[in-house]
Amino acid sequence: MALSVVDLYAKILPKTNCKDCGFLTCIAFAGMVVSEKHPLKNCPHIDPDILSDAEQELEQQYKEGKWLKKDMAKEALEWAKKKAASMKLSDIASRIGGELTTVEGIEQITLPYFNKKLLITKDWITDNNGNELTRNEQTFVYIHMAQGGVSDPSGNMKSFKEFPNTVSKIVSMKDLVEKPLQKTFAEKMDKLTLACETSGGKDVTSQYESCDMASLFTAFPKIPVTLLFWDADDGFEAEAKLLFDETIIQHLDIESIMFLSEHLCYLLTR
Ligand code: SF4
Repeated sequence: MALSVVDLYAKILPKTNCKDCGFLTCIAFAGMVVSEKHPLKNCPHIDPDILSDAEQELEQQYKEGKWLKKDMAKEALEWAKKKAASMKLSDIASRIGGELTTVEGIEQITLPYFNKKLLITKDWITDNNGNELTRNEQTFVYIHMAQGGVSDPSGNMKSFKEFPNTVSKIVSMKDLVEKPLQKTFAEKMDKLTLACETSGGKDVTSQYESCDMASLFTAFPKIPVTLLFWDADDGFEAEAKLLFDETIIQHLDIESIMFLSEHLCYLLTR
């Protein structure tokens, strides 16, 4: 019989909340075992026979996918990959500004991506050093391939909140992108300049009078992103803001724009 979180807690676990498994409570541990395949044996206080029977039950329900947390990242990648696969690589390449080549009979797109190049086929994506991209990064690239529009950047840069349907993401943009940048680079402008150069940024400070530093990144050929930075001064905290070309919503959805922003933050602060 399948074991729910409550079954596991009520019938198998000792309910002492001793924390030896690394969780604060037995019920929290039970939740992780049932929904995320956390090993039951990490609770060292279960009778070996009971443990063995329970592990068999769990194995069966994992196979059936019962109560398992959905792997959203995997589903998103499969969806994006399928959508991109239904299109001709030659059409995609010209649409998103990549170059189509054929290597050993396999068509591939070479696409500039920040300070490196991506090699893309319908089945895999690597960077120019042969490293495979993370699953989230691959999803991001396939989404751009699937929905990237024909428009070239207009040069009219806008802040994130000026785009439609971004209200629910404003806090994430602040917490996951702007604040880490502010914290890392406040009163460390030399470090910021070096980080921008290393990540392929071009100094465009002269185009923005109000800020202390501006750097333009080419995330993809049709997707420019500008980082504006104001250093801490006279009791004012440092401030960081990203600007995107107004055409970005023809190339990426809002989730992907968030991913792009977080990725740029990662490149600069790592
Ligand atoms: S080690 Fe076992 S008894 Fe202790 S808190 Fe974790 S699940 Fe509960």
